[in-house]
Amino acid sequence: MSEQIERLKTLIIGSGPAGYTAAIYAARADLKPVMYTGMEPGGQLTTTTEVDNFPGYPEGIDGPTMMVQLQQQAERFGTEVRIGMVTEVDFSDEPGGIHRVTVDNSKVIEAETVIISTGASAKYLNLPSEQRLRGGGVSACAVCDGFFYKGQEVAIVGGGDTAAEEASYLANICKKVTMLVRKDHMRASKAMQHRVNSLENIEIRYNTEVDEVIGDQVVEGLRMVNNQTGEKEEISITGLFIAIGHKPNTDIFKGQLEMDDTGYVITQGKSTKTSKPGVFASGDVQDKEYRQAITAAGTGCMAALDAERYLALVDSKEAVAS
Ligand SMILES: Cc1cc2nc3c(=O)[nH]c(=O)nc-3n(C[C@H](O)[C@H](O)[C@H](O)COP(=O)(O)OP(=O)(O)OC[C@H]3O[C@@H](n4cnc5c(N)ncnc54)[C@H](O)[C@@H]3O)c2cc1C
Repeated sequence: MSEQIERLKTLIIGSGPAGYTAAIYAARADLKPVMYTGMEPGGQLTTTTEVDNFPGYPEGIDGPTMMVQLQQQAERFGTEVRIGMVTEVDFSDEPGGIHRVTVDNSKVIEAETVIISTGASAKYLNLPSEQRLRGGGVSACAVCDGFFYKGQEVAIVGGGDTAAEEASYLANICKKVTMLVRKDHMRASKAMQHRVNSLENIEIRYNTEVDEVIGDQVVEGLRMVNNQTGEKEEISITGLFIAIGHKPNTDIFKGQLEMDDTGYVITQGKSTKTSKPGVFASGDVQDKEYRQAITAAGTGCMAALDAERYLALVDSKEAVAS
């Protein structure tokens, strides 16, 4: 006998701040949400020790604890949290249509609404010393972690708009910022380049890459290499920021949803609506601008409200038609 396919009102994909906030709102609206956590239950914040900027925690909180608390809050209202990875989707084009989602290449679920909260992963250089010191002075988020290096000397890797933006941010807090740009010029806009060049405590090193991050438990320095001459140089720093881009976790949605040229899901206007009716996107997966826990949570709330209103509209149309 074939297994009956499970039918849900609301399926949430991803368990970061966006997914859990969507779950809290969806559960309280009686949408009986089921969440699949993916490979990183709790999302990106589980990789950081201190979260000091999420409102409501005057003493700060460590990332993993905050995410456990969000899970408990979502479960308190009836969210079912399941371990599993969504591996395939087949979204309906029809308003009121049913979306088919495959989990772990085997289990098929049908859902009236889907909330995508799969985040975006920061790219790293993938040097062994950099990976070893992640969380020990190596960070991919200047806005999140810059404050911990107040008055200290740091370095940042990257030459695009984000790197320039983050270098300027760090320059306001830190004593000195050394900016490593791989090419002989920056990719950042002229305006951003001008901003970086005008800040006296930013030193830009062109044609320069990281050879090794120095330090045992925490970052103590950086060995840089000039990729034209091969010349190496060591500097003392306490923080290294990697700003070479993010990869939105959207491979499984390719061909199903409209995305921009870097793979972020496009949402309509101020809503979380995607190009498919009944499919909503929240958090970093649709936001390359802010990428913060609080903004992810905010759009998670919006996605659940959008899903609730969509279902109410579908129901009222069906009632009129019958
Ligand atoms: C080191 C570090 C420190 C940070 N510190 C701060 C800070 O102090 N303050 C702050 O506001 N922000 C901070 N951020 C940024 C913050 O973590 C993100 O903005 C936020 O986590 C984004 O939330 P999200 O829910 O959109 O996605 P994420 O937190 O990235 O969660 C994505 C979720 O989707 C799941 N997933 C992915 N693919 C699938 C799939 N196919 N099927 C099922 N699930 C899937 C993953 O397992 C994960 O649970 C930090 C980020 C990093 C990397």
